[in-house]
Amino acid sequence: MATSFHPPQRTLMGPGPSDVSPQVLEALGRPTIGHLDPEFVGLMDEIKALLQYAFKTNNQLTLPVSAPGSAGMEATFVNLVSPGDKVIVCQNGVFGGRMKENVERCGAMAVMVQDEWGTAVDVQKVRDAFRQNPDAKLLAFVHAETSTGVVSDAAQLCKIATENGALSIVDAVTSVGGIEVDVDGWGADAVYSGTQKCLSCVPGISPVTFGPRALEVMNNREHKVQSWFLDMQLVMGYWGSEAKRTYHHTAPVNAMYALHESLVMLQNEGLENAWQRHQQHHRALVAGLEAMGLNMLVAKADRLPQLNLVSIPEGADDGAVRAALLAQYDLEIGAGLGALAGKAWRIGLMGHACSQKNVLLCLTALNNVLTAMGAKITSGVAVDAALDCY
Ligand SMILES: *Cc1c(COP(=O)(O)O)cnc(C)c1O
Repeated sequence: MATSFHPPQRTLMGPGPSDVSPQVLEALGRPTIGHLDPEFVGLMDEIKALLQYAFKTNNQLTLPVSAPGSAGMEATFVNLVSPGDKVIVCQNGVFGGRMKENVERCGAMAVMVQDEWGTAVDVQKVRDAFRQNPDAKLLAFVHAETSTGVVSDAAQLCKIATENGALSIVDAVTSVGGIEVDVDGWGADAVYSGTQKCLSCVPGISPVTFGPRALEVMNNREHKVQSWFLDMQLVMGYWGSEAKRTYHHTAPVNAMYALHESLVMLQNEGLENAWQRHQQHHRALVAGLEAMGLNMLVAKADRLPQLNLVSIPEGADDGAVRAALLAQYDLEIGAGLGALAGKAWRIGLMGHACSQKNVLLCLTALNNVLTAMGAKITSGVAVDAALDCY
């Protein structure tokens, strides 16, 4: 007989999900009401307004897709890309590769702009790609590459797209709540995010926003959107602003309570304060890691505060260290991906998990596990180096 599942109390400092705030977990457990209940419809309107705040946009079409970040990604592609279109896709990590898959599954052609993993998207290469492909309809890129801990210049990239008469699709799954996302300021046309990175919320929801140029493309499509579930014209019957909302799918009602709570928390903290908090704890973490003798693998100007790519020192066994952190400290950090597998760890400082307490826990735990393993580090100095930063 199976019995109730009681998860261990972990500290999540990997690439996501990150720690969910207790306030959000409490909201999740409130009584379920109908997905067309007038009270729930009121909550939906508040969620849309709070998402506009988080995205810094006045876009009317701003709502949470009832599925994870990957579905938000797919929603932007299937609604904006038509068969035969040409799309310039920037790839400097895992997620650019997924964008390519989405483009091709829409029957369109992806023109890839490749940059080395661990570096930002090179805007000059993007300009060149437009010069060689003046018929490109869209530019897609990842603002915050969680697979490598790199931020790219979203303002510049969106501007280049607009100057070339193309729409921009921006992956802001890891950015929203952690670093500035300025949808209207950038002139971004379609942006998607996720709840489980810097929003301190449970996984499984993907906020998306579409601007006026994107709406025009969607309204003038010749081909039906290939996905029924993600067709925004249909979703809008439920999430739109008309007086009468009609059934499209059953919203994950309790997950929406959680998202609402996390957005209220973000609003109360203030966007700028949240970004600053991520910077502050990032600086302290880096000071500690470097004092220990570990190397940060991303150039300073391109580093994400919420995802820290750090070298694995000589004499440390990647898997054994992460297993020991989990077993002895209930602490999860991320493994390296692709070319960085076995060479780097990814330490997340996302949302609720981004705190002094967690920075000190992570440095203490890493110091102790690496020292016990006989790895080549300077032992016993990391916590003090971090504290000096505070
Ligand atoms: C996590 C992540 C995704 C995918 O989100 P899921 O919720 O796992 O589907 C997409 N893009 C980036 C940059 C991410 O970090």
